[in-house]
Amino acid sequence: MPALDEKLLAIYDEVLSRNPGETEFHQSVHEVLDSLGPVVAKHPEYTDAEVIRRLCEPERQIIFRVPWVDDSGQVQINRGFRVEFNSALGPYKGGLRFHPSVYLGIVKFLGFEQIFKNSLTGMPIGGGKGGSDFDPKGRSDGEIMRFCQSFMTELSRHIGEYTDVPAGDIGVGGREIGYLFGQYKRITNRYESGVLTGKGLTWGGSQVRTEATGYGLVFFVSEILNARGESFDGKRVVVSGSGNVAVYAIEKVQQLGGTVVACSDSSGYVVDEKGIDLALLKEVKEVRRERISAYAEARGGSGASYVAGGSVWDVACDIALPCATQNELNGHDAATLADHGCTIVAEGANMPCTPEAVRAFAARGVTFAPGKAANAGGVATSALEMQQNASRDSWTFEHTEERLAEIMRGIHDRCLETAEEYGTPANYAAGANIAGFTQVADAMLALGV
Ligand code: GLU
Repeated sequence: MPALDEKLLAIYDEVLSRNPGETEFHQSVHEVLDSLGPVVAKHPEYTDAEVIRRLCEPERQIIFRVPWVDDSGQVQINRGFRVEFNSALGPYKGGLRFHPSVYLGIVKFLGFEQIFKNSLTGMPIGGGKGGSDFDPKGRSDGEIMRFCQSFMTELSRHIGEYTDVPAGDIGVGGREIGYLFGQYKRITNRYESGVLTGKGLTWGGSQVRTEATGYGLVFFVSEILNARGESFDGKRVVVSGSGNVAVYAIEKVQQLGGTVVACSDSSGYVVDEKGIDLALLKEVKEVRRERISAYAEARGGSGASYVAGGSVWDVACDIALPCATQNELNGHDAATLADHGCTIVAEGANMPCTPEAVRAFAARGVTFAPGKAANAGGVATSALEMQQNASRDSWTFEHTEERLAEIMRGIHDRCLETAEEYGTPANYAAGANIAGFTQVADAMLALGV
C-alpha cells in the first residue's frame, strides 16, 4: 500500500493495533486516510482536536446472541451486530447484512464507509451498520421470519427514529424488513414508521427505494458520461451480481439505451450478447430465488451462455459496474478490463474493488467512481423515506426519482469540485473522501469533544 503522511500513519497504526484481524475495516480506513493528506495540511484544527482518531473509533458497538428454532425443531444460535459509528450529522443510518461472512470487521468497514457516504448525500444522517452471520440461503419463509423476530427482539433496545435507523443490505430485502418492523411494532406498541427504511409501499415505504441504489449508480455514471459529451447510448456494460443493486442498475442502463451483456452470482456468470432479459432475471432471482445458471437454462438455445466459476470481468465492455460484494474485482481483473477497452468503473457494491484494482485503474486512465459516492442513492432514498414518514406523506414515483437524480448530480459535482480544490483533479475517490470527511469533521468540531 502507498505510504501515508506521518500523522495519518500513526492513526492507521493505532487502528491496526486496536482492531486486530479486522482486515476489511483496516482497508477501508487506509483508503480514506490515504486521501486526507492535503486536508490535514490545510486544516490543522482537525488533527489538533483529534477528529480523525475519534472518527476511527465507533461511538458504540453492540454484539448479541440470536437464538431461533429451525423447521426441524433444532435450536440455532447466530451472532448479531450493530455498530453505531458516528452521529455527528444525524441518527445512525445504514443497512443490515445477513451473510455467513459477517463478523465485526465487516460490519465496521461498512459502518465506516457509511459515515462518508451519508455525509456526501447532504442529508441529516449519521453512519452505522449491522447484521448477522445468519445464512438465509435455503431457509424457509418461516425460518427467515423467526430469525428476524429474534434478531429484532434484541436490536429494538438500541434503535429508534431519532437514534438509529437500519435498512437492508445483502440478504435483507423487503420481506426481512417486514418481519423486522412487525416485531419492533409488537415489542414497542408504537407504529414508528421512521425506525426502519426499505418498508413496503402500503406500510410506510417510499417509491423508488427498491430501485434506488441501482438507479442512483447509473445516474452517477450518466453524469460522468455527460461531462465527456457522451451517453449510455450504444454502450456495452457488464454488471456483477444479480441481487437488488444489480437488477435495478441493469434496468436503468437499458432505459438509457445501453446494453448489459453479462451479470453474475457467487457461482458463475451469464453472457447474453443481445442484452440481459430483465423480466427473466427478475423471475429467476426475485420470484424463484434460484441461481443465475437457471437464467441461461431458461433462455435455452437463444444465445445466453453460463460460465461456472471464472470472472465476469473477462467479458469485454465499455463500462463495468461491480454490484456484488467487497473485494470482488482485483488488480488482475482491472488490467483485463482496461485491456478490453473499459473506460469507466463505478461501484454499486461497497468496496468491491481492491486497492490494487484502484491503482491499476489510475495507471490505465480508467475513470473510477467509488461506492461511497456512486452507490449513495440507496441511503439517500432511505432519507427521503424518513422525510415522508416524519411528515406522514407519500410522494409519487416521478417526484421521488427526480429527487434521487438531483441528489446523485449533487454528489457527482461535489466530488469533482472537492478533488479540484485539494489538488487531485478528476479523482472521484479523493473528492468523495475529502468532501464526505470535511462535513462530518466540521460537525464534530462544532459539537465538542
Ligand atoms: N445498505 C445500503 C448501503 O450500503 C443502504 C443503507 C440504508 O438505506 O440505510 O448504503
